[in-house]
This record gives sequence, structure tokens and C-alpha cells, in this order.
Amino acid sequence: MKGRQSRIGTVARLATLAVAALTSACTGMMNTKEDAIKLYVFDCGNILSRDVSMFSPGVDEGQSKQLTDSCYLIRHPKGDMIWDTGLSDQLTPEGVDAWDGAFHLSVSHPLQSQLKEIGVEPEEIEYLGISHFHGDHTGNANLFNKATLLIQQQEFDAAFGPDANKFGFNPDSYSNFGQPNSKILQGDYDVFGDGRVVIKQAVGHTPGHQVLFLDMPQSGPILLSGDLYHFTKNRTYRRVPSFNFNQEQSFQSIDKIEKFVKEKGAELWIQHDLEQNQKIKHAPEYYL
Ligand SMILES: [Zn+2]
Repeated sequence: MKGRQSRIGTVARLATLAVAALTSACTGMMNTKEDAIKLYVFDCGNILSRDVSMFSPGVDEGQSKQLTDSCYLIRHPKGDMIWDTGLSDQLTPEGVDAWDGAFHLSVSHPLQSQLKEIGVEPEEIEYLGISHFHGDHTGNANLFNKATLLIQQQEFDAAFGPDANKFGFNPDSYSNFGQPNSKILQGDYDVFGDGRVVIKQAVGHTPGHQVLFLDMPQSGPILLSGDLYHFTKNRTYRRVPSFNFNQEQSFQSIDKIEKFVKEKGAELWIQHDLEQNQKIKHAPEYYL
């Protein structure tokens, strides 16, 4: 009897151990799922350039080019971050001319409805990263009024100083932001402290322009360009727009970021490049 009880005891202990092992394996799997970061790509507008040579002085003069405008949502276990906010949702599919007719700007899919489609309210977003403060990147910034703005010191000084308009910025589009809800950066910044979402300073297009590095576990490393380039041809031939804030800084940033991209083996996604964007998944689909 004693021997049998002892055997039952052993079986019970083994069963307990097995359940414990299984539970721990499940927890491990759940942790993996919870730890995943997701990247959503949104269509944040259409930009027709009526003379593309403003992006590449002396090249393709008088030729028009259609560009896209992109926004992104990064869902990290420690919080959500929007990267760029595109053209304003107030624009229509018919659109308007801008810069004395140099551009025609339109919005086919409001960002707010694209967020709604994936069940995200703008007020839930913790971080707002904006590559730079031109109007095609700040159009919907005010929607994210509970977020902390992640901005380089030089961009902050330009965007919130007395001469914002001279830099081509539209302060009305980001009037919900200022010193109290900004984290002012002095160079590169690891947003969640684990190396997976890192803002890289890349000045030149504007005084405090920045790009975003993402280390995606399944898709691999990706770099979101901001306006380091506007389309692939400018990357191929190393060309810089005539309207950049500082040409020399722009070339230095290109060299720095290209070196970084090579070291990491990262894909470089050019945010305004229509042809490249047509090949990537858009929300509600996402990258892991
Ligand atoms: Zn832009």
C-alpha cells in the first residue's frame, strides 16, 4: 500500500512538473507575442511636382513627377509611436495647388480613418516622431495631442521660434505642441531603450532633420528616410534639392546614413517614392 501511494505521489509530482513546464512554455510564447513590434504604413497624401528639377537642380527640368506621402505607426510593447503625419486630412482627393503652383497636393485616404480601421485612436499614441517640420509631414500633428513630441534641438528652435515660416514650416499645423510636451533631442535617440526603434539625426534638409531606424525581428532592419531623399534616382545619383536648408550638411548626412544602412544591412524606404511605396504592404496589413 505504502509503495503504491509512493508511486502515485511520484506520478502526481511528475504531472505537476509537466504542467509547470507547459505553462512556462506557453508564457514564453505569449511573451514573444507581446514583445513583437509591428510597423504599419499609411498613405498620407499625394504630391504632384510640376517641375521635378527642384529636387535635382539642372536635371529633368520642366518634367512633372508624382510623389506619395507616407506616415507610419510603430507598435512597441512599451508604447505606440507615429512617424510623420503627412498632409492634412482637411485636404480632399481633388486637392489644391501650393507653392505658387509648383505642387498639387491631395489626400485620398484620411489618416484618421486609416487609424480607425486598425482600432487605434490618435489620443492613445504615446510618441510623435516627425522627420522634419515641412507641412507635408506635420499636416495631422495636432491629432496626436496626448503624445510626447520627439524633436531635435535645432528643429525645435526653428519650428517654435519667431521665423518658422522662413523655414517653410506651418506653425498652425502643430500648434498643440511646444516645450511642455516635447522631448528635445541632441542627436540619436533610442526611443524604447532596446535598440529596436532609434531616431538618427540627419540634418541638412531642415536644421534638425532626422530619420528612423527600425530593427524588425522578422522583416529585418528598415530605415525610414524622412526627406533625406525624395525618390530613388536622387539616392542613386547622390542629388540634393535646391531648397534644402544646408547643402553641405545634407551631403554629410547622406554619407553618414548610407554608411549606417550598409553596416546594419538595412532596407532604406524613401517616404515620398511612389514606385517603391507601391511595392510595400499598407495598413491594415503590417510588418513584424
Ligand atoms: Zn516631404
